[in-house]
Amino acid sequence: MGRPTDFLVHPRREPAKRPVAERIRDFREFTGLLPQEELEIQAARCMDCGIPFCHAYGCPVKNLIPDWNEMVFRRQGRRALDLLHATNNLPEVTGRVCPAPCEPACTLAINQPPVTIKQIELQIVEEGWRRGWIRPEPAPFRTGRRVAVVGSGPAGLAAAQQLARSGHEVVVFEKSDRVGGLLRYGIPDFKLEKWVLDRRLEQMQAEGVVFETGVEAGVDVSARYLRRAFDAQRHDRGYAFVEVLSTCPTHFGRLNESGFGRFLGVRLRGGFDLGSRFSLSGPLCRRGGFGAFV
Ligand code: SF4
Repeated sequence: MGRPTDFLVHPRREPAKRPVAERIRDFREFTGLLPQEELEIQAARCMDCGIPFCHAYGCPVKNLIPDWNEMVFRRQGRRALDLLHATNNLPEVTGRVCPAPCEPACTLAINQPPVTIKQIELQIVEEGWRRGWIRPEPAPFRTGRRVAVVGSGPAGLAAAQQLARSGHEVVVFEKSDRVGGLLRYGIPDFKLEKWVLDRRLEQMQAEGVVFETGVEAGVDVSARYLRRAFDAQRHDRGYAFVEVLSTCPTHFGRLNESGFGRFLGVRLRGGFDLGSRFSLSGPLCRRGGFGAFV
């Protein structure tokens, strides 16, 4: 934590927004960044709680919030970035569009405005991009296994990146003409400009992820083809597929005969476990509304 009394003397501050007269002329983002000095003060408001409710209960991806707050306060931006990436493949996205349930969960929110967690997250990763700390991280070895990821929304992208960094050959199938799913076609530019997404996709391509757009699973490629063309990860009969559910109902249920269907559950995002076995025909369970199943 910063100084123990910082939260008592420093109020919460938020970044300035572009003037309305200016922002009505375009569709670009309108929320700015805090000056670095102010960001460090905001990070110092964190009390490094013994039980960090922000991390334990608030954050769905279990971001290491008090740890990177501390690194920001100590001006160790690179270390803060590593901690952020340890749990989150797309912090530049969550730093912009996440509803930030960590903030109402913050202990400070009991009797005063919470730590500006989301803004700190965004500025950690933007500093990383600006300083060139975020580069492709290709796997040091290849496993020779092929994995199909169906759907290129946030969960599909996160899974694809982790799989590629684990040495697998990853092909992402996307039914739209561009990669990104809801990130590209569901979130307007004033919240998430698309160069933000393209920047991360370039990194993924450099890491070996292949994107095939205009390919709808169950229509253009069958489950049978995917079973035949892609390998198990760890055991012979296991498959890894990801279907992003941005446009599908999210019921409990089973897949239809083609292997793809409306009744898809959601599982993933925080815990893509390469050692787990998944089946196209098994029952699936729902985990969240903004994700995928494996
Ligand atoms: S709950 Fe708030 S004050 Fe406590 S560790 Fe998390 S961000 Fe810091």
